[in-house]
Amino acid sequence: MQLESFHGEGDESVHGYSGPIHISNGTFACDILQKEVLNAAHKVGYPTIDHLQDLKYNNGFAVCHKYIAPDGSRQDTASRYLHPLLRSGKYPNLHVLTETKVCCFVLIYVSMN
Ligand SMILES: Cc1cc2nc3c(=O)[nH]c(=O)nc-3n(C[C@H](O)[C@H](O)[C@H](O)COP(=O)(O)OP(=O)(O)OC[C@H]3O[C@@H](n4cnc5c(N)ncnc54)[C@H](O)[C@@H]3O)c2cc1C
Repeated sequence: MQLESFHGEGDESVHGYSGPIHISNGTFACDILQKEVLNAAHKVGYPTIDHLQDLKYNNGFAVCHKYIAPDGSRQDTASRYLHPLLRSGKYPNLHVLTETKVCCFVLIYVSMN
């Protein structure tokens, strides 16, 4: 919940609204297809539900929101966490190597106390 800024409707208790990852319907949705799928599911006994991922409901169908902001931009880890740090100019020790596989990750914690 802390990672998301949800731009949909429904139960606010199961969403976050101040995180760096925007969840929305983006700039495009194929409404006709979505309605047809929901109608077809309804006809064979599956209810339409608001939130597929809230863990309260299951065995139903819903229009899924996307890891895409209302302006259409993809909300991936690089775009939302890494690129802002790189653009800020505040992290001269942060280097990005493309086409490179990370084999080992070492985290060093230095206490200032
Ligand atoms: C089947 C499927 C369907 C989806 N459908 C939708 C959808 O319809 N709508 C939607 O909004 N979202 C959808 N998603 C989710 C969306 O794809 C993810 O939210 C988004 O790609 C996450 O981006 P990310 O940068 O966090 O991770 P990723 O896009 O997975 O990027 C991680 C990157 O790290 C690289 N990597 C991994 N290990 C290493 C390593 N050791 N060293 C170096 N690089 C490494 C990988 O190669 C990859 O490029 C779907 C995901 C899946 C799997």
